[in-house]
Amino acid sequence: MRRIYFDHAATTPLDPRVFEAMLPYLKDHYGNASSVHALGRKARFAVEESRERIAGHLGAEPGEVIFTSGGTEADNAALHGMLGGARRHLVTSTAEHEAVLRPAEMMAKAGHPVTLLHPEPSGAVAPEQVEAALTEETGLVSLMHANNELGTLTPIPAMAEICHARGIPLHCDAVQTAGLFKLNVEALGVDLMTLSGHKIYGPKGVGVLYVRGGLDFAPFVVGGAQERRRRGGTENVAAIVGMASAFDLAVAEADERVAHLTALRDRLCTQLRQSLGETFVFNTPVEAGASVAPHIVNIAFPPRDGVPLDGEMLLLNLDMEGVMASAGSACTSGALEPSHVLLAIGRDRATASASVRFSLGKDNTDDDVDEAVERLATILRRMRQSRSVAAGRPASDWMADSELS
Ligand code: PLP
Repeated sequence: MRRIYFDHAATTPLDPRVFEAMLPYLKDHYGNASSVHALGRKARFAVEESRERIAGHLGAEPGEVIFTSGGTEADNAALHGMLGGARRHLVTSTAEHEAVLRPAEMMAKAGHPVTLLHPEPSGAVAPEQVEAALTEETGLVSLMHANNELGTLTPIPAMAEICHARGIPLHCDAVQTAGLFKLNVEALGVDLMTLSGHKIYGPKGVGVLYVRGGLDFAPFVVGGAQERRRRGGTENVAAIVGMASAFDLAVAEADERVAHLTALRDRLCTQLRQSLGETFVFNTPVEAGASVAPHIVNIAFPPRDGVPLDGEMLLLNLDMEGVMASAGSACTSGALEPSHVLLAIGRDRATASASVRFSLGKDNTDDDVDEAVERLATILRRMRQSRSVAAGRPASDWMADSELS
């Protein structure tokens, strides 16, 4: 059976070109970038050259790029690094990734005032909500660029304008948009920004925190003097080279990738409507002109006749049929709790639990979409069938269920 990978928001495959770029640093150039000998200098050169290339893509200075162990660390560092002294208040939203919500929770427990904004049904908070939440004590506003479960985009430049009018820095988790949109820090107006290697066909375990020069930023991971004393720890040279190389390719191919993903996404939405009829709703805003990233389509199956659909079972069945998707963010799947993002946009628990996120990638094809929808429709028919029998409905009832036939 042909396997169909529709979980690119969780992680992307390593691009073979990136792998080639990393190989010498995994095999031969194994020096510690802090060592003064030839192997160390080779590693240092690779790290600094990677930093320059990434900074170039962001419209930033190389000194403003801090390498981290991934998006999670970069988010944690942004919050911990910026909230101190008189500026203790954090403003963020309930639809953020756990990598922001958990440190926010820790900070609240430690006595920091934290305002959690509730998103609109689209999944984004409105600029007016942010404006109303700011106080004299606000030290940071943290909002994601594209929501990792819904794909909804936050209007970051508008948020930046509001924050800057009050002299407050804005942190943006751009993990899901890196490589798709131009992430120029000036155009976006961000003061801190998080990126992750493995969402852009680069390696896992590497990320970037952009920190605007001149900001009073305290290091989160302390140890050696690496990263200009802003992040201790021996640099993961091969991964850093991989991240730079993945970013180069993403920027060079961005237009092509976005066009391809947009066409695939539209095809997926059309096919879902045609095959599944009224049995599902879109969690991702899909109306014309909706402000969304092109790679994520999240759908839900609300209870029918009061009977909920088992979302876990649906995912397992999809997996058995070779379709790999996700029930929410991969970092939290495995837990039976419905997605906090879907609850935040007002879905009831049963509907949120019966949701599937399809996230498309640059190497997916039209055939993948057609095949996946066909397999999904077959699985749903089978699940509803066995449920109907279990619920004692006569077979003729579900056989006549034309919506799914
Ligand atoms: N932020 C967002 C929006 C994400 O989607 C993810 C990963 O799912 C992260 C942060 C965490 O990144 P990493 O896996 O590199 O720690």
